[in-house]
Amino acid sequence: MPSLSQIHRPKTFADVTGQGHVTETLRKEVATGTLGHAFLFCGPRGVGKTTTARIFAKALNCENPKDGEPCNACQACVAANEGRQLDLIEQDAATHNGVDDMRELIEHVRFAPLGGKRKVYVLDEAHMLTGSAWNALLKTLEEPPPYAFFIFATTEWHKIPATIVSRCQRFEFKRIPDAELSERVRFIAKAEGMKIDDDVVRLIVSRSDGCVRDAETLLGQLASLGAKELTLETASLVIPQGYGELAARLIDLWASRDHAASLREAQRLADDGIPLVPFFDDLVAEVRRRLVASADAPQAFTPGELNDLALLLFERRKDAKVGVDALFALQLAGTIAANGLLRHSRSPSVILSETKDLTPETKGDSSPPAQNDKAREVPKAQEKTKESSSEYQIASSEGQRAKSREQQVKENQELSVVASEAKQSQTPVAEIASSPEAPRNDNAGSPTVDLNIVRMKWQAVIRAVDEVNHSLPFILKISRPEDVRGSTVILRFQYAFHLDKIVGDPKNRHIVEQSMEKVLGERLALEGVVGEDAARAEARSQDIVSNILKAFGGNVVES
Ligand SMILES: [Zn+2]
Repeated sequence: MPSLSQIHRPKTFADVTGQGHVTETLRKEVATGTLGHAFLFCGPRGVGKTTTARIFAKALNCENPKDGEPCNACQACVAANEGRQLDLIEQDAATHNGVDDMRELIEHVRFAPLGGKRKVYVLDEAHMLTGSAWNALLKTLEEPPPYAFFIFATTEWHKIPATIVSRCQRFEFKRIPDAELSERVRFIAKAEGMKIDDDVVRLIVSRSDGCVRDAETLLGQLASLGAKELTLETASLVIPQGYGELAARLIDLWASRDHAASLREAQRLADDGIPLVPFFDDLVAEVRRRLVASADAPQAFTPGELNDLALLLFERRKDAKVGVDALFALQLAGTIAANGLLRHSRSPSVILSETKDLTPETKGDSSPPAQNDKAREVPKAQEKTKESSSEYQIASSEGQRAKSREQQVKENQELSVVASEAKQSQTPVAEIASSPEAPRNDNAGSPTVDLNIVRMKWQAVIRAVDEVNHSLPFILKISRPEDVRGSTVILRFQYAFHLDKIVGDPKNRHIVEQSMEKVLGERLALEGVVGEDAARAEARSQDIVSNILKAFGGNVVES
């Protein structure tokens, strides 16, 4: 099934959300025919670079462009809207980044367009191309065939060789302002026939951090609930108001020094579609909470470590915002925290920080001027982060760090006790929740009902629940019967707060248990686990390890 963003993909320059300074310039260039052949689309992920590139390609091949806009009626436009545009070649430079890939592409450039007038090459993640790949491409960029156009899309344009940048017309894509993002969310909701509360729009916008793709994904998750009217109560089943609980869990994993589990958990958050850049704020809020609590009771991290952790998270958040893969930034922060390296993490040599001061202003000399002044503005939010970061630094008292050696030893002892306790009690991927008052006869004996039957009849159980409570089915639909132990059905939930809402709340659990009895004819208890199953988790952790090794240029050594 196509996603909401695919269904409602903008079809004209005017439809693109929040990038008017870019799309207006492109439209005028198409209208007047004053076109360069190489374009650099820079900016954060998910703000419309690829969408704009596709519209540009469509406009260039349109048979009846109107004022530079594609007509969306001619054969070429229709083909493009159906994704059958032969003369639009999109290549992911993250995976095709070598000199051989470039030679193949150059070979392709030599052939005239198949259907349309012009061939458009879009290279996504262009900063991933190797130096020799760029060199191979340079000559083609210097003397391109009249029908060939190149768009390099990147989150990190400063990594692109100056010789290339100077041959491109550079466009800065911005984070989408809240007002325009709200408008986009309302537009799609309306087109989908959904009634959406203002509070829900605000929630989506606040969790998307100026990224139109994230906003559309969140709205898509809400739409999949099938509710015609989206209230804050319904929305909060899928989009929590904050991710404090998940943040606390991740920090617990760091504190328990469980490196592998913390990497897995970060991956799981990303897979669950948690917007990771705003998630850094939840992490900092949780660190702050623990810092305050440390006045009354010792925490797994010492106050000094918590202070370092907050600063580390601010730094990594900045990296994530300028376009470094947010998951990697989160995993790197976790690696430092979980390996007890917080006190050594303050030097600026951590690999990601090379990007932090390279805003367009400081490195704009070698490149042609951007389209206008607005396009060169540093995003406001980024500046805000800088401010609050230094605020935080001032707030942390130096005295706190200058502690006696004795104190330090004591703290370390406490720390290791807490850490080993945490390790014992932690079952990182799944946790079983149970409560005493449920009819828990024997959950070790042979199952009183077959798991396959429970799964087969699960939709009927959900319908029975729906007769009593209309909001619980939303959660049950995205949960899955995992096992039957004795007369207890184990349900796998995607999120911990779903488990709390159903199993942790005696009233709700009772509703589900009664519905199971009604449908399955057996008196059954309900318990739950959170997260993914062990086999998938294992496969994923293998991936993570090899990805991290790849990022650091290492190899897996079989032992
Ligand atoms: Zn057309």
